[in-house]
Amino acid sequence: MSSYQNIESALIHGGNTTDKHTGAVNVPIYQTSTYRQTGLGENPEWEYSRTGNPTRAALEALIAELETGTAGFAFASGMAAITAVLSLFESGDKVIISSNVYGGTFRVLDKVFKNFDITYSIEDTTDIDALDKKITPDVKAILVESPANLLLTITDIKAVSDIAKKHGILSIVDNTFMTPYLQRPIELGADIVIHSGTKYLGGHSDVVSGLVVVNSKELAERIAFIQNSTGGVLAPFDSFLLIRGIKTLGVRMDRHVENAVKAAKHLKKHSGVKNVYYPGLPDAQGYEVNKGQAKNGGAMISFELKENHDIKKFFKSLRLVALAESLGGVESLVCHPASMTHASIPYEIRQRVGITDGLIRLSVGIENIDDIISDLDNAIKESETL
Ligand SMILES: *Cc1c(COP(=O)(O)O)cnc(C)c1O
Repeated sequence: MSSYQNIESALIHGGNTTDKHTGAVNVPIYQTSTYRQTGLGENPEWEYSRTGNPTRAALEALIAELETGTAGFAFASGMAAITAVLSLFESGDKVIISSNVYGGTFRVLDKVFKNFDITYSIEDTTDIDALDKKITPDVKAILVESPANLLLTITDIKAVSDIAKKHGILSIVDNTFMTPYLQRPIELGADIVIHSGTKYLGGHSDVVSGLVVVNSKELAERIAFIQNSTGGVLAPFDSFLLIRGIKTLGVRMDRHVENAVKAAKHLKKHSGVKNVYYPGLPDAQGYEVNKGQAKNGGAMISFELKENHDIKKFFKSLRLVALAESLGGVESLVCHPASMTHASIPYEIRQRVGITDGLIRLSVGIENIDDIISDLDNAIKESETL
């Protein structure tokens, strides 16, 4: 942390979230598109709100400090943030993505950037030696998530960053599932961190947003140029909501994780459950690697019901836990990846990377854990077919 010893304090005081004009402890919502200039050629600090806005700038300084980067950038969605980062590349360039990345990341590469001859390949980034051999001269970046969507696969962020450095290419980490409270990829050597602020950072399922943090002045200048040129910026009100959400990130995450550990342990011994994926349990894939790079296993769980369960009936029977896209809000959410978040990934690829039709993704909320567990138990029981 740059100005605060501990991240709990930086969450609340980081960046420059006090209004320097009035002392207001919360940065006002500067709901303006433009700024009156004092005279021609006098280089005003603020010119136009696509280029810069004080509320957005406060959020950008805050996330840069939390992720220990050089500069931060706020976008209208996680996908706008990812699109801005991918706009660093040119035709002929290739990006390696880990299998199980967020469906939207795959889709924008497969259906949009491909049209500009920026290509991708899907690799198992948990196998570092194999990954090293995949770095051909056209590969310009490795983009990973850890834990990665769905099977909560853990990738060694430092090892991937080291490989990227060795080949002179960029390492990019989508840190949405962990947040800087649990994991800080730039400290592990990553060049760029991406967030969907829609999830834990906002935390209340009431704002769509995205963030980028970079580790160098050169990357900061390039992303600032892309942000201003392509224009997918976060609005002042939404920037305010995100700053407000981040203040309670620490206490929320502590409860999210406490609940997730209990839920994962419970599901694991449940007779109706076939598989549980949760990197916070000692027998999970990558448990030791995750322990070395993150504070704990986070609060996302995936699990599979046994064959004698009707998945439609399971979702219908839930009362407290809501069937919904998204994650990271105070309320517990479940989704069916094969038909929802990951439907844009072709069936064959889904099977290859383990996104079976029986897989359920659970974003454990901060409700009373006994209520969450009894709701899950009831729905599992209701869904039994024999
Ligand atoms: C939701 C999500 C995104 C996309 O963010 P939006 O705010 O929905 O555009 C990207 N990466 C991950 C890991 C996500 O969960």
